[in-house]
Amino acid sequence: MSRSETLYCEMCGSPIVGRPYRAIVDGVEMVLCASCYLKLTRSGRAVPVRERPRRAKAASRQPKRPTRKVSIELLDLVEDYPEIIRRAREAKGWDLRTLAQKLRISETMLRRIEQGKYKPPIDLARRIEKILKIKILEPTELEDEYEAPPPGKLTLGDVVIIRRDED
Ligand SMILES: [Zn+2]
Repeated sequence: MSRSETLYCEMCGSPIVGRPYRAIVDGVEMVLCASCYLKLTRSGRAVPVRERPRRAKAASRQPKRPTRKVSIELLDLVEDYPEIIRRAREAKGWDLRTLAQKLRISETMLRRIEQGKYKPPIDLARRIEKILKIKILEPTELEDEYEAPPPGKLTLGDVVIIRRDED
């Protein structure tokens, strides 16, 4: 907006001489002449606008995304978790039902876990670890912007991801 352009008071319509005043009148922001501004603010009908709203908006529009590198650390089950669970359970002399009861899951589900047919979610895997005093979870570091590597260059981490997708 150029300074030479004449502004008109949005209340009385007269050209604004000198600086325009901004105020909220009846909930609407208006550009006012000095006389209307004084009259309305004194009567309490207008609330002065201290900060220019456009600038405030532009500031809030700036992205608040953190700039830190995003990498997700995940826990994943070790490959031979079914066998580890079964051995630990048998070492304690527990049958499927006993362990299932301690884990508060069904015997069928536990059997499927020990057969490698059902991959327990992390929270259940943690309970299994705690009850059997075993370790079946291992950390897996994943980049956020993950791209599939070219064929033949699969690492152990990649294999884990592919297996998860098949679930
Ligand atoms: Zn006016």
